Amino acid sequence: MSREHIEIAIIGGGPGGLAAALYAARGRAKTVVFERGIPGGQIVTTDWVENYPGFPAGVNGAELGDLMTKQAEEHGAVIRSFSPVERVEIADDGHFVLHSEGEEFDADCVILATGAVPRKLGIPGEAEFTGRGVSWCATCDGALYKEKIVCVIGGGDAAVEEAMFLTKFASKVHLIHRRDEFRATKCIQERCRANPKIEEHLSRVPVEILGEDGKVSAVRLESTKGEPEELLPVQGVFIFVGVHPVNELALDLVKMTDNGYITIDHDGRTSVPGLFAAGDVTDSELKQVITAAAKGASAAFEALRYIDETTTCSI
Ligand code: NAP
Repeated sequence: MSREHIEIAIIGGGPGGLAAALYAARGRAKTVVFERGIPGGQIVTTDWVENYPGFPAGVNGAELGDLMTKQAEEHGAVIRSFSPVERVEIADDGHFVLHSEGEEFDADCVILATGAVPRKLGIPGEAEFTGRGVSWCATCDGALYKEKIVCVIGGGDAAVEEAMFLTKFASKVHLIHRRDEFRATKCIQERCRANPKIEEHLSRVPVEILGEDGKVSAVRLESTKGEPEELLPVQGVFIFVGVHPVNELALDLVKMTDNGYITIDHDGRTSVPGLFAAGDVTDSELKQVITAAAKGASAAFEALRYIDETTTCSI
């Protein structure tokens, strides 16, 4: 099978992958981004991003993803949407072979920017009522809950921000967190506390989602402080209990942390020469749009340098 040659192949089209694409293309490398869905990454399902510099009033997540995509394309990167990469192999000559939907590509370097996906709770009712009251995306499903009562599970930035977003539609939002203090950034917590539609339930763990007529009707909460169990009537359950890395392509290739994040050095190099990583799939501590983009830029810079060095050596 003939293989298209790519200098820098980027897998994943979130902020990390798109920033890498911008820098790689500006470095005049033949750059292709393989994205299994639409580009933009997790921000596409975020209503409002207010901590990305340059947007003092904030920016809609999907719009920011779109702007990043256009910018990378304008500088010469090719973005292949709906193009999942199923496998990456390392050839004998150190190049990489990417398999995507029956096609093969030969890449000098690869940047893994596959991101992370929302975690599940693993409690009874969660799978059964997914799409029938249980959701992981307030931006996608929030409007379905006009004047209804919903709950949000989690205590991080995502849970608290999305609880506030849901008050645009719902008459009441119960915010349920397993500890007695939130993990979310302080200024986000402050705004949440000022919102009269949000009721906090601290030290509570959801143990079951119940339904009637095929739709969510309540969530059962256990107290971590020995208080009685309660049944909270809700019509929607929004789950934001963190994310886990999309690391399947990297499993047999590179060094990872015990919890499955790709180990990188501060320039985005993995344990394999020519293979770089950026964004939420890596072990970088701060997981934000700005850090994903910054790591993408570093990874692309190092990939360009790697191509220069390996090309020089082979002459
Ligand atoms: P996160 O920061 O990891 O928070 C997850 C929350 O879910 C924590 O409060 C955790 O409780 C709770 N949790 C975990 N497992 C649970 C379980 N089984 N049952 C009940 N609760 C559970 O995740 P995130 O909020 O999705 O954010 C992911 C990353 O994206 C973070 O780095 C975050 O800062 C970033 N992010 C940033 C923004 C922003 O800057 N505006 C917005 C969204 C996300 P504990 O606190 O007890 O561990």
